[in-house]
Formats: sequence, C-alpha cells, structure tokens
Amino acid sequence: MIQPSTAIVVGGGIFGLTAALELRARGSAVTLLEAGPIPHPLAASTDTSKVVRIEYGADALYTGLAETARDGWLAWNRDLFPRPLYHETGATFLTRQPMAAGGYEYENFRLLTARGHAPRRLDAAAIRRRFPAWNSEVYVDGYYTAKAGYVESGNVISRLAGLARSHGIDIRTGEPVAAVATRAGAGGRVRLESGAAMVADVVVVATGAWTPLLLPELAAVMRPVGQPVFHLLPADPARFSPPQFVVFGADSSRTGWYGFPAHPETGIVKIANHGPGHPVHPRDDPRAVSPDNEARLRRFLAETFPGLAGAPLVDSRRCLYCDTPDEHFWIGRHPTNPALCVAAGDSGHAFKFAPILGRLIADAATGRPSSLSHRFGWRAFAPGATGQEASRARAGERDNGGSANDGLW
Ligand SMILES: Cc1cc2nc3c(=O)[nH]c(=O)nc-3n(C[C@H](O)[C@H](O)[C@H](O)COP(=O)(O)OP(=O)(O)OC[C@H]3O[C@@H](n4cnc5c(N)ncnc54)[C@H](O)[C@@H]3O)c2cc1C
Repeated sequence: MIQPSTAIVVGGGIFGLTAALELRARGSAVTLLEAGPIPHPLAASTDTSKVVRIEYGADALYTGLAETARDGWLAWNRDLFPRPLYHETGATFLTRQPMAAGGYEYENFRLLTARGHAPRRLDAAAIRRRFPAWNSEVYVDGYYTAKAGYVESGNVISRLAGLARSHGIDIRTGEPVAAVATRAGAGGRVRLESGAAMVADVVVVATGAWTPLLLPELAAVMRPVGQPVFHLLPADPARFSPPQFVVFGADSSRTGWYGFPAHPETGIVKIANHGPGHPVHPRDDPRAVSPDNEARLRRFLAETFPGLAGAPLVDSRRCLYCDTPDEHFWIGRHPTNPALCVAAGDSGHAFKFAPILGRLIADAATGRPSSLSHRFGWRAFAPGATGQEASRARAGERDNGGSANDGLW
C-alpha cells in the first residue's frame, strides 16, 4: 500500500470529485483536471436528479453497498449540504404481471423484507387508492418502499466542487488531458492538450464515457452508450408530486422506464429509460433523442400515466453511460503502471453510491486490499459476458409499444 503525497485526478464528475476529496482527506496534495466547466453540461453526473435506491434484485453485495450509501446521503444532508439535496420521497416499483420469483421486483421485495426495510406490497386496488396517476388496469402488483428517493445530482456536483476547493484541492477547469502514461515504471504522468506535462505519485482517470478515448486499451471493455432523458410539464404538477407520486420503476427491468416526481419548483416530471441504450461516440454524438425515442415515450405514457400522455415535452437529451460488459463499475490500478488508477465504467447506476465512491477509489489507487476488487477491479471477460445489473432492461424484452426492446435506443 502507498501513501501518495501528490495525486492528479482527471475528470470532475462524481467519480473524480469524490476520489479527489478522499485522497485529500488522506493527506495527498491533489490537482483535479477537468476538460470543461464543473458541472460539465455533458457529464453524466450533471442533471436535475438521480435515483437513490437500495434495490438490486437478489444481489446482496450491491444492496449492502447501497444501504451504506443511503446512510451517507442522510449524513451529507445533515453535515455537508446547505439544504437537503437527497430527497427521500420513497419509491414504487410496479409490475404489469404478478411479481414472480426471479423477477427484479420480486427479488427486491424479498431482500428488502429480509433486511428489515419493510416494503409494502401493492395490488391494483392499493395502487388505485394510493398512487392514482398510475393505470391500475395495467399495473397490478409491486411495492412501495420508504427508503429511496432522488438526489439533485448537478447541485451535489457544485457543492462537492466547492468543498474540494475549500479543502485546498487545486481544481483546473478547461484543462483537457490528452494522454496518461501506462508504461511500466512511468509513474503518475499526464500530458495536457495544451502540451504541458504533469507528474504525481498517483493518477486517477475518472473520465466517464470519454475513458476509452483517453485509454484506447479499454475500448474493448468500456462502451459509451446513449440513453434518452425527457422532461415533461404536466398541466397539474400536484397530481405528480409526493406522496401520491414518487420515484418509480414501471416494470423497469422489462421496459427500462423509470422517473421522478414533479420538481418542487418547476413542476417538471423527468422520465428516462434504463434499457440497452445506443452505442455512440462520446465526443461526436449530437446528444439528441430520436423521434422513435419520443414515440416510445408517448406509448409508455399512454399506457402507464394517462394524465401525462399529452403533457408537453419541455426538454430532452441523450446522456451517456460508460458500460462495462458485466455492468459493474471499473475501479482498479493499471496492471503495468500501478501509479495509474482507472475509476469509470459506471454502467448507468453509480451516482447513488457517491458517499462511498471516494473511499473505494482511493483504496484502489493506494493499493489497499479490498473485498470488492473481484467485482470492480481490473478484469478480463469471458466471451459473451452479460450484464448483471438487475434493474436494467435487456434487448428483446417487450416494452408497452409491443415492439421488441431492440437495443437501438
Ligand atoms: C441518463 C442517465 C441517467 C442516470 N440515472 C442514474 C440514477 O438514477 N441513479 C444513479 O445512481 N446513477 C444514474 N446514472 C449514472 C450516473 O450518472 C453515473 O454513474 C455517474 O454520473 C458517472 O460519473 P463519472 O464521474 O464517471 O462521469 P461523468 O459525470 O461523465 O464525468 C466525467 C468527467 O470527465 C471529464 N473528462 C472527460 N475526458 C476528459 C479529459 N480528457 N480531460 C479532462 N477531463 C475529462 C468530462 O468533461 C466530465 O466532466 C445515470 C446516467 C445517465 C446517463
């Protein structure tokens, strides 16, 4: 294990900022290099909201980490944020068929119950009574959990960047890194696009979906994938506000659809899809949703939230995941240059772990043994490796429009 006196972190999203804060807390002098502003408008971390859930199907490891992260969000609300940025509205995960063993919602319910989180099962009548915006002719089973909600992710990034500066972290925005050293014995070394070189005891690359551009050797195990995000403005936002409308998954492991209650100030309802996604080039993609995306959204709304089906779309965009083949994060030291640590591969579900991410990344960067390295460490994949993230919809699943979820979102 090493105790670096200097560290360079590349990337000012949630992976980079939490890593920088933790390395600083452990005594390193830290420089964070970000290509654009912080928050960067195209960063995955920059948005109005991200879901915080502890549900990961039957996966007790993620569920355990998410429980710890949720405690972290509650502590951050208390100790770190000027006002709560994590809103524990509760969440509903509803299904169009009765929940069955092996299914995402069923396994969530079983594990939440076993771990003492007291989720409440909902049948069609209960859905109609408690969550009237839902079409309870179609959604007939599922549950409500009080231990879930959303974070104002963009505001979290701004707050953590402010904290980082106040803790003496040298944040340099508008400083794109062109290359990082991977050669054995090279140590921590980066070259900026401006041509300047910088060295440190450790370098952490936390560049999200851009990582395969900076480290082409990772292109085989990291795939930038575009996902649609929609902002709708209902005529009556109160109908889509807590407690009768909370964070939701709509048969999400089949359809991919999930969303948020109306924003308390703007009244906007955000809905997105956690499906197979559409492979894109992280720099050249126009970040726009396609007409087919919007048509699928309208079909989904018509079937699930009739009161939202005609709501005007006030914004939409394509946001990028950095997908790994197994959909587990990539947090590990480079095999030939241990002074380089890569922290990426979010696969669309890492923001909720922010309160523990910094520790995981700093442990990896300093060589501290971790019981999680089998899941997140530098790894090889058997041919045909498949995604393991239980809530993710897969290609081929039927969404509500009757067309196969062909993966080309
Ligand atoms: C549509 C969508 C919805 C999501 N919903 C959820 C959710 O509900 N719950 C949840 O837990 N997670 C969710 N996620 C996942 C979450 O947003 C990500 O896991 C997380 O934000 C990834 O953070 P990051 O720091 O790896 O990447 P990013 O936030 O993308 O940050 C990477 C940063 O690196 C910078 N950079 C890139 N290249 C360079 C370079 N060469 N030099 C310097 N800087 C560089 C970029 O400018 C950027 O600021 C969602 C993601 C998307 C796309």
